[in-house]
Amino acid sequence: MLAYPPVICSICSAPLTVHRVTHGYCEALACLTAVGVRRHEQGKAEERAAIQAVARSHRESMLQQHPALQSQGLAVLVVPGFNADAQPMQDERRETLRQHIRELIAGDAIATESPLVPPLDDVARALQPACTICRGHCCGKGGDRAYLAVETIFRVRRQFPSMDDVAIAAAYENAVPASSMIDSCIFHGEQGCTLQRELRADVCNTYYCDPVKELPQNSGPALSIVMIEKLSVKRSTLVSSPFMGNRDPV
Ligand code: SF4
Ligand code: SF4
Ligand SMILES: [Zn+2]
Repeated sequence: MLAYPPVICSICSAPLTVHRVTHGYCEALACLTAVGVRRHEQGKAEERAAIQAVARSHRESMLQQHPALQSQGLAVLVVPGFNADAQPMQDERRETLRQHIRELIAGDAIATESPLVPPLDDVARALQPACTICRGHCCGKGGDRAYLAVETIFRVRRQFPSMDDVAIAAAYENAVPASSMIDSCIFHGEQGCTLQRELRADVCNTYYCDPVKELPQNSGPALSIVMIEKLSVKRSTLVSSPFMGNRDPV
């Protein structure tokens, strides 16, 4: 029975039955899906707002602890976080990597070659404290293959012409840490990535999450980098902003 006076679905505008009036939307699959998406987005927006509130309150307390910052200015950068524990390396993981490297080494020549890995530049160095506070959220999907591809091996051969394939395979196997973070890349050790930059996949050397990418635009004279979990600050560091000229660390 349709509601009277008429009430329409907030998504598709179809007239609602009396049973759907309190919901405000009809039972069509498309409308139920749209409502689910809307709720999910609302939840995310509320979560972001709550995190920003924690960041603002963290900023206030930093300003109280460091009164000099009140005149200098203080920006807060919220980074993601990786919080799993470490566990001893399992033989199966080593074997999966070993097999993967063997296949890559036997891989055919490729049309496009990756550029050689340049030395760490000042910008990349300046971004490192953010990744240190985060502890490698973006490494979580690296698995036992660490994004390594045939292109990587071709690049490593060009970058280290004195290394033969046996030496290259050994370099990867030897870089596996004795213990690594649970549910993350095989090279994700307790102190960060154990694979030297030149041996990593391109994505490992070039990827930055959005907060870190925005850092150069958003930082003030001093910068507090924070990782927030369950609406409280779990880790933080206070640095002079790397993008405001040379200053002593705060
Ligand atoms: S790039 Fe972002 S997600 Fe990756 S380690 Fe750094 S702060 Fe974390
Ligand atoms: S190789 Fe290193 S940088 Fe790349 S995903 Fe694994 S731990 Fe992260
Ligand atoms: Zn509808």
